[in-house]
Amino acid sequence: MNMIKNKPVTTTCPFCGVGCNLELHIKDNFIYKVTAPFDSVVNKGNLCVKGRFGYDFIYNNRRILNPLIRKSPQKPGARSQAFNVDEWQEVSWDEALDYTAKRLVEIYQREGSNAMAVYCCAKATNEDNYLLQKLFRALFRSNNVDHCTRLCHAGSVVALQKAIGSAAMSNTAAEIMETDVFIITGSNTTETHPIISIQMKAAIEKNGAKLIVVDPRRIEMVNYATLWLAEKPGSDVAVFSGMAHVILKENLYNKEFIDTRTENFQNFSKAMEKFTPEYVESITGVEKDKIIQAARLYANAKRGAIYWALGISQSTHGTDNAHSLINLALLTGHVGKRGTGLNPLRGQNNVQGASDAGAMPWHYPGYQEVDDEQSALIFEKAWNIEPGGLNREKGLTTTEILSNAHPGGVRSLYIMGENPMMTEPNLNAAHKHMQELEFVVCQDLFINESGAYADVFLPATTFAEKDGTFTNTDRRVQRVRKAIEPLGNTRPDWQIICDLARRVEKLLGRPNSAYWDYSHPEEIMDEFGKVVPSYRGIKYARIEKTGLQTPVVDENHPGTPFLYAESFPIGKAIFFPLDFKPIDEEADTDFPLILNTGRVLEHWHGGTLTRNSWLDDLYSQALVEINPVDAKIYDINHLDVVKVQSRRGEVILRANVTQKTITGVVFIPFHFAEAAANFLTNDALDPEALIPEFKACAVKIEKVTEDQLPTKQPYQPRGRY
Ligand code: SF4
Repeated sequence: MNMIKNKPVTTTCPFCGVGCNLELHIKDNFIYKVTAPFDSVVNKGNLCVKGRFGYDFIYNNRRILNPLIRKSPQKPGARSQAFNVDEWQEVSWDEALDYTAKRLVEIYQREGSNAMAVYCCAKATNEDNYLLQKLFRALFRSNNVDHCTRLCHAGSVVALQKAIGSAAMSNTAAEIMETDVFIITGSNTTETHPIISIQMKAAIEKNGAKLIVVDPRRIEMVNYATLWLAEKPGSDVAVFSGMAHVILKENLYNKEFIDTRTENFQNFSKAMEKFTPEYVESITGVEKDKIIQAARLYANAKRGAIYWALGISQSTHGTDNAHSLINLALLTGHVGKRGTGLNPLRGQNNVQGASDAGAMPWHYPGYQEVDDEQSALIFEKAWNIEPGGLNREKGLTTTEILSNAHPGGVRSLYIMGENPMMTEPNLNAAHKHMQELEFVVCQDLFINESGAYADVFLPATTFAEKDGTFTNTDRRVQRVRKAIEPLGNTRPDWQIICDLARRVEKLLGRPNSAYWDYSHPEEIMDEFGKVVPSYRGIKYARIEKTGLQTPVVDENHPGTPFLYAESFPIGKAIFFPLDFKPIDEEADTDFPLILNTGRVLEHWHGGTLTRNSWLDDLYSQALVEINPVDAKIYDINHLDVVKVQSRRGEVILRANVTQKTITGVVFIPFHFAEAAANFLTNDALDPEALIPEFKACAVKIEKVTEDQLPTKQPYQPRGRY
């Protein structure tokens, strides 16, 4: 094994979308400390607990270090979950990849393109995601390509694309210091994007900026807010349309901006007439005076900005929710200038990049539509495919891929680094769908709740053992650098994909049809830049020190800190008239409370990384937050063991009696397998974005006995390979 350098290696954090720069301190191929460079434009020497201390998952003895194949072949409808090491056998890479290629090609040749599906990964690099979607599109001719963006910001993406033509954050997080009024909604920023919340607090404390929080939970940022609008879950369209009503009625709107930069104002304005503060209060529970004050504060700002996250998008009307925010920014002209903007905070470290790389069922890389003939021709030429060879039909989304797992539908699923058996809604149904698959491949670090279903497990390297790039939430493409040699027989994702692709090509009788012989991820990025105009100027040499913010249209372009200064990608932005729609499943006498779900600071997403880190000792069990008023009604004391039930499932966990949640609403974080909130959540979908309603469903709660509390991590495998 090579002893790699002992000086710190600068790289990018593998957890959230802020994209903090890390310095990995190494001795004898071992990372013993993580610090942050003080000259980083993203985090200026700061790190949260995950970035600073959460890297020890690299060395966890549960990590899988050799390829594995099931000893007994699995049958659809009778698949078992193999957490037990005895059900697997260790094999060579050649054996694992030959077997994987043979099974995938056999299913493709028998059942066709629609039987093939892949989950790409928001934790993997741009280069990894570009190659995996290329493999499924170019070789299996399938657009059943998606990743967890569908479960995070799909509503925001659809609304932003329709209204202005681009779905990314419009401004740089560091510009918060220039904002005088900002709205945070559906984002527990302190816990989900901690370093951005530091900048928000600084803007308030040092510059006197004003904050409006719109959220059903009393999140920490409420302590810094001028106004907290404690809305009922799912009533966002009413709150923001109420603000628009006030802005229109009091002539606080920006007429010049509306006249020169927007369309459809009259129809929008008419639709807002009904959203009087009184009407909005009756729907949302927010006092009418607060709606009026919030409208005046935001409209009168010199530089107003809106930051939002999953509380807006994870809804059956997530697209409408995002439109209601876009309408407000267009109405006031708070977009297209520094310190303003429409800023959906992206969750995982590379969800922006994976989306840019085409890890979505309706788009090739660069958001070029799969059903657009010109786009298809571009990629056929780039990937050396015969004219008409690429599939012109939109593929299935993550949730649709599972619900179509049946004979005649999806038969094989390739999962790179995602954990749908934690992150899909209505998990009891999702587990049943997973059972129906013929062949499952997992490429990951650990056998998680989804990996347990796999027929083949391909052990990948961590972020510290490979090169590549991540694109953070404010569109900054930054380097990921190999700091240590890969542990055991693990391989970087991009190498696994290329090795598999060459085998698939051979079996299909199409050798060298697309290119897979890269010697370094830099060459993959060069190819990526040729097909995605906004990445054309991204070269590794240019992002050695500081990342560049897309669009970077050529090799001399300096990057784009904020968007839409002169125009929107679709020309004039479009107002969307909206009406209020209730949540899909409202509280009733059988299920009288509404469940809200989300994240905590110490954990991330489905828990594959953080629950295999010492972070799990810091926050080791799920708790359901319940307001003291509701706790009294249901005779629940702090830390009592309770059962929470919805129409789809139940979980047992301890109660956290707290004012953090409003009456009528309980909150459960979604990282904990032993009390997975998604056993309860509703799989009803937004009709446009097809994102499920994670943020609101009807539940009931009751006290149960201590011995009913499940043991921690029941699904985690033990023992090292
Ligand atoms: Fe990593 Fe996000 Fe924490 Fe920064 S804020 S250290 S990117 S988890």
